Amino acid sequence: MTKVKAEYIWIDGHKPTAKLRSKTKIFEGPVKSLDDIPMWGFDGSSTMQAEGSDSDCMLKPVYYLPDPIRGGDDILVMNEVRKPDGSIHESNTRARLVEIAEKHKDEDAWFGIEQEYTFFKGRSPLGWPNGGYPAPQGPFYCGVGADEVFGRDIVEDHMDICLQAGIQISGINAEVMPGQWEFQVGSLGPLEVSDQLWIARWILYRIAENYGVNATLHPKPVKGDWNGAGAHANFSTKPMRENGGLKIIESACEKLGRKHEEHIAVYGAHNEERLTGLHETCALHEFRYGVSDRGASIRIPMDTANNGKGYLEDRRPSANMDPYQVCAALIETTCG
Ligand code: ADP
Ligand code: MN
Ligand code: MN
Ligand code: MN
Repeated sequence: MTKVKAEYIWIDGHKPTAKLRSKTKIFEGPVKSLDDIPMWGFDGSSTMQAEGSDSDCMLKPVYYLPDPIRGGDDILVMNEVRKPDGSIHESNTRARLVEIAEKHKDEDAWFGIEQEYTFFKGRSPLGWPNGGYPAPQGPFYCGVGADEVFGRDIVEDHMDICLQAGIQISGINAEVMPGQWEFQVGSLGPLEVSDQLWIARWILYRIAENYGVNATLHPKPVKGDWNGAGAHANFSTKPMRENGGLKIIESACEKLGRKHEEHIAVYGAHNEERLTGLHETCALHEFRYGVSDRGASIRIPMDTANNGKGYLEDRRPSANMDPYQVCAALIETTCG
């Protein structure tokens, strides 16, 4: 018999931005399918998901990957939070995406999410002088050299662990603000991209621990003339990817414009600090789409315009957004 260490990961009830939680369960393995992973529970009164007098919440395994950090037969398990009777907990945004994805599965929606984030060491972004500021932005984006990029070892470790786990990470880059980075996950279907993105975030925090560094997804980690952190959602449906798709993309943009405020409501807390109209963003209450326009809410990539088919990039979601809610909103608005 082999003992398996399974890291059960879930999303808590913290407001306005939910946090990742995890704990380890050891049981007899190896795990060959989801059915081999037992349900579990936790103290919901410590995660803002229950009252102390009735504190048990249920962890229902919904997705798993090998755990390259521990190795062997060990696994990382994504869970939905359920109430003791098995019904869906208020904090569980995944269950709704399951329904919406099923309803619109013929559209074969794909998502590629660009996750930006910022490393902090103590109270300052990694590489910043203590209590002070680095040189103005300009040289840092996709930079090289110890004076320009900070935390590359962590970023490389994170990328390797994600790849070994089977996460479809499609690239990384250093961002405009020093200490800020990006990785992309996708393109994948809505549930896969979201489960993988949450697990990739967990791996990021976990690997950065080894360096005494923390990563934050705050959309505006430093006030002032410093770029915020977003999570651009690149999105397509089957008709958008086929000949004549550009028309469908444009009509999707029109629909998205009519639901702008509803989308902003689920695109991440504190996003108003980031969507100022400066730093490659469109202002919070404006909606605009355009080809190659990085100051628009939605950019139609140049290749898509040239080929007459492809995908759109929703630039509004902030780094701390919940991909279950963002994917659900994009499918509902454009496929409804
Ligand atoms: P940017 O130029 O905005 O920095 P990136 O290269 O960082 O773009 O990210 C683009 C993302 O778009 C990638 O995750 C990629 O997988 C995804 N993508 C590419 N084609 C499609 C498509 N047809 N549908 C959805 N996502 C796509
Ligand atoms: Mn990018
Ligand atoms: Mn970016
Ligand atoms: Mn982008």
